[in-house]
Amino acid sequence: MCRALIIGAGGVGTVVTQKIAANPVFSDVMLASRTKSKCDAVAAAIGGNRVKTAQVDADNVAELCELFRSFKPDIVVNVALPYQDLTIMDACLECGCNYLDTANYEPKDEAHFEYSWQWAYQDRFKAAGLTAILGCGFDPGVTAIFTAYAAKHHFDEIHYLDIVDCNAGNHGMAFATNFNPEINIREVTQKGRYYENGEWVTTEPHEIHQPLNYPGIGERESYVIYHEELESLVKNYPTIKRARFWMTFGQEYLTHLRVIQNIGMARIDPIIYNGVEIVPIQFLKAVLPDPKSLGANYHGQTSIGCRIRGIKDGKERTYYIYNNCDHEQAYKETGTQAVSFTTGVPAALGASMWAKGLWRGAGVFNVEEFDPDPFLAELGPQGLPWHELFDVDIEV
Ligand code: NDP
Repeated sequence: MCRALIIGAGGVGTVVTQKIAANPVFSDVMLASRTKSKCDAVAAAIGGNRVKTAQVDADNVAELCELFRSFKPDIVVNVALPYQDLTIMDACLECGCNYLDTANYEPKDEAHFEYSWQWAYQDRFKAAGLTAILGCGFDPGVTAIFTAYAAKHHFDEIHYLDIVDCNAGNHGMAFATNFNPEINIREVTQKGRYYENGEWVTTEPHEIHQPLNYPGIGERESYVIYHEELESLVKNYPTIKRARFWMTFGQEYLTHLRVIQNIGMARIDPIIYNGVEIVPIQFLKAVLPDPKSLGANYHGQTSIGCRIRGIKDGKERTYYIYNNCDHEQAYKETGTQAVSFTTGVPAALGASMWAKGLWRGAGVFNVEEFDPDPFLAELGPQGLPWHELFDVDIEV
């Protein structure tokens, strides 16, 4: 008997709600978001009165607490925006609920994300005897669980970790982002950053790039960007000498991004337009395609994985663990594209790991701190099969 409350009725929330509703470990399911009609549409598609819905402003702790006190969730799955992480964690503490999210906290007025804000909740979650699970999407999420699996089964020491994220899908639009445009553009336009020999190295945006080969896809230009799981992974695996995150971008996408930045549309500070205060990037989000709507015409695959070099039994070895996800397949199953699918499936699975008592503990945890085995045993059957390659050329 586990009561699950999902917050955020976007592309990811749609997948999470479907997967949680289909899992009998959850006795009661509610989807709450800023716009209730979006929750109702998701619930109606699932049918059978399985999913209750509610309106909530997740920036407001008092409003969240009122909802938590009436629905009494055991676990709250936060798939709203990273801006809401701390208010939802505050409400969980106040009402005695466990917590899971897929993206680390980011202040609205600063395009900057790091775990320090959420790690600062460690003592309070510990004292309350509650579990907070951070970053349980695909990346962060499965990428860190892949790393934990590699460390548990295949390496005595991990030395080099390269997380590679390729979206080789085509949605037929000149420019669109695969998840929330505001969060996505803030993420990919910031400076590059990677970890080497105990230090963080900063680069210009997209400065380091090279072609990488992705299984079943082929060669794609890949760029080093900063990604949040690097921060927890180098802390939890101190043998790592270098950790980087690579993401593929097409030339057309990068050109649009450059123009957006050059003309000031990526600005996150408010400006006055016709006497009204607007934030350019939020206005841009309003005119860009909704990522949820891309699914119908999306073809091709994503391929995300970890390329690892390290030592096992005194010998150097390489290892590549990855999942490929097909946009059309994801759409057929859930009505969303592969990026929402690859994020939503792990979030729902992480919540079920908690519900089954397999991932428990008092405090704040990154996903690599839990046992990867039961999670990965279910990931394939839930729609994200994964593969391993040993002692191959990992190119990095
Ligand atoms: P969307 O923008 O599609 O959905 C976000 C939802 O949250 C919307 O329904 C929105 O409401 C709701 N929301 C926003 N603010 C509030 C608020 N104050 N109170 C209540 N609800 C609110 O985003 P996605 O579904 O694409 O992404 C969801 C999350 O998943 C993001 O945090 C994103 O960073 C993360 N993510 C993680 C990935 C991973 O692999 N770890 C990959 C991709 C995404 P409304 O509909 O009214 O706007």
